[in-house]
Amino acid sequence: MPAPILRLALPSPLRRLFDYLAPVGVPLAALQPGVRLRVPFGNRQLVGVLIELSEHSEVPAERLKPALELLDREPLLPPALFRLCLWTAQYYQHSLGDTLSWALPVLLRQGEPAQARQERFWHAATSASPDDPRLTRAPRQREALRTLAQHPHGVAQALLDTLQLNRESLKLLHDKGLATLEIRHHAPAARRGPWLAQPELPLNPEQSAAYQAIRAGLGSFKAFLLAGVTGSGKTEVYLQLIHQVLQQGRQVLVLIPEINLGPQTLSRFERRFNARIALLHSAVSDRDRLDAWLAAREGEADIVIGTRSALFTPLKNPGLIILDEEHDASYKQQEGLRYHARDLALVRARQENLPILLGSATPSLESLYNAHAGRYALLKLTQRAGGAQPPRFLRLDVRSRPLDSGISPPLQQAITSTLEAGQQVLVFLNRRGFAPSLLCHDCGWLSQCPRCDARMTLHQRSNELRCHHCGHAERPPRNCPACNSADLRPVGVGTERAEERLNTLFPDYPVLRVDRDSTARKGAMERLFETINRGQPCLLIGTQMLAKGHHFPRVTLVAVLDADGGLFSADFRASERMAQLIVQVAGRAGRADEPGKVIIQSHLADHPLLVQLTEQGYFAFAEQALAERRSAGLPPFSHLALLRADAHRPGDAESFLDQACSLAEQLSAELVLQGVELLGPVPAPMERRAGRHRAQLLLQSSARAPLHRLLASLLPQLEGMPGSRSVRWSLDVDPIDLF
Ligand code: ADP
Ligand code: ZN
Ligand code: ZN
Repeated sequence: MPAPILRLALPSPLRRLFDYLAPVGVPLAALQPGVRLRVPFGNRQLVGVLIELSEHSEVPAERLKPALELLDREPLLPPALFRLCLWTAQYYQHSLGDTLSWALPVLLRQGEPAQARQERFWHAATSASPDDPRLTRAPRQREALRTLAQHPHGVAQALLDTLQLNRESLKLLHDKGLATLEIRHHAPAARRGPWLAQPELPLNPEQSAAYQAIRAGLGSFKAFLLAGVTGSGKTEVYLQLIHQVLQQGRQVLVLIPEINLGPQTLSRFERRFNARIALLHSAVSDRDRLDAWLAAREGEADIVIGTRSALFTPLKNPGLIILDEEHDASYKQQEGLRYHARDLALVRARQENLPILLGSATPSLESLYNAHAGRYALLKLTQRAGGAQPPRFLRLDVRSRPLDSGISPPLQQAITSTLEAGQQVLVFLNRRGFAPSLLCHDCGWLSQCPRCDARMTLHQRSNELRCHHCGHAERPPRNCPACNSADLRPVGVGTERAEERLNTLFPDYPVLRVDRDSTARKGAMERLFETINRGQPCLLIGTQMLAKGHHFPRVTLVAVLDADGGLFSADFRASERMAQLIVQVAGRAGRADEPGKVIIQSHLADHPLLVQLTEQGYFAFAEQALAERRSAGLPPFSHLALLRADAHRPGDAESFLDQACSLAEQLSAELVLQGVELLGPVPAPMERRAGRHRAQLLLQSSARAPLHRLLASLLPQLEGMPGSRSVRWSLDVDPIDLF
């Protein structure tokens, strides 16, 4: 019988498996699909996952190489997760090897053993005594043994220095048999006692109805959309459902957007439950991530909380998936494997026969559409918990009004009276920096990024012009580079400029800025919230970071400085995003005794979408926006895939996409596919970015199946196309951003 061929998924963009021979001396029985192997690849070594064994290979026998090493004794991925990865690779038309790389913790990708951290503990040997004659001339060892003896449970290696234990002395004691070294697996402490560490709040009737409906759905696949206004107590509903699932002896996976990872969110879970909580997000170290992943897989974590990629955490005994703020764009990965964690969470729930709960105050149009179509059960919470009033909206037409750093006179008055009443004000402006560009008043020169088709933003605090698209930064010129005039003026308003102006206008009140620049330092956010929570009148100015996850009960006035961007953008999702931001930021304000007021400045104050949103609320807006999408044939009423390409030389990306387009047309005809439209290729909306020329080809289809059949035959052929090497290209299935 010929030696079996191992077919491996390797971390490579190529959409195929790679063939190897078994490592020398490894028995066939050890080669189960799902184990990792280290293999030679060119002049490098890679870690791959065994997908299948085969008797034949296309590769000539003399060129087949043996794998170097078997890394796992058991398959790394439980079957359920393996299935999810296969589905993901296929749906997003991405290489399986690279998909597995995105799904696995970094250390596992690099070949680290799939074992929880081990800790070394030093003990005094049972029979050891400091009076041992061998220690008479060794005072340091005697001392060390005394210290060890004071710790009957052993001393962790990491604590030796703290306890002033000398490593050399311990080693000598060990050689004499007077000290022992124990290797302990770092396992989370066994859990005991009741699940609740804190009593549950009595649910109001709406919460209770939602809770009962979902509770009745535990045990099998069902999707729920919990649409609850901000502060309506969605989290309380999550917590009480989690309690139910824990009592059934099952695990819960909670996904949250990156930006919500404030200590506020996490501590709510920690305070409520006496449970083992595993955290998986970008701030967690690689080692801790691996431990959390393993604990979840072994059933040693009861609740797994994480951002996007935590979706790929194996669970021994899953009972429920919760995805909070389901509309949040951070669930979509924008590089490499361009997956949407919400969409995959639904696939996972179906595959593992679990209920899934999507929650948001401002559900995405996709999810609302799915709810209307009966695919999700829609549950609404219309009242704020604890009796807080919904905020009142006011559209402020700023046409032909003087704007002072973006602030109109009526807004300034409203701010004054709020502060004088001892309350706080939140000013929202989704643009960082001082001004979005620098302009020469004499010749019209603009601070263009040398590498992108974009303006550079003036950052006054750090005294630089910075491109927010490629990161390029330079000192602002003193004189115009074109005409040498000294009359250079910042145009437009960013948070820095608004902050400066507010400081001048309201010198008696603190102005706190919250954006990516101001909160870059560790703990900056916490210090800010401390000030805010003290409750003194103050002004908060910031970007969308302010719109998420925090409650500011002392804020009674929210000002949206500029709502125009969302109303006339080329991106068909811009109005949806703007509406979500406005509603989310408005939801931060107000409480029972002080209802909030929201002032929205716009040059398009009568825009139907804005009117709908402010007068009838988010759901009325969403209906209108969905009707517009339907008549325009846009998602969710059609399906998109975007093929992007970029290259150093102008024209290369477009000619690659031209070839791709002809190929797609040809394949469509061969496969007799109906209804897939090819739009483009066209230059990308930002044609040059970071020095590369970009183009795109949009594939649009009223039905998903033909689009995916086309992609499945198109992609492998694109890989082999002659032009495919001189350009960088990628496919984005269900893109949320067409740039
Ligand atoms: P959401 O997640 O919808 O924004 P939260 O769960 O954070 O809402 O609830 C908002 C506030 O209302 C919190 O302070 C919470 O403790 C409180 N709350 C939630 N449910 C209740 C309830 N049933 N009774 C009293 N207060 C509640
Ligand atoms: Zn000039
Ligand atoms: Zn740039």
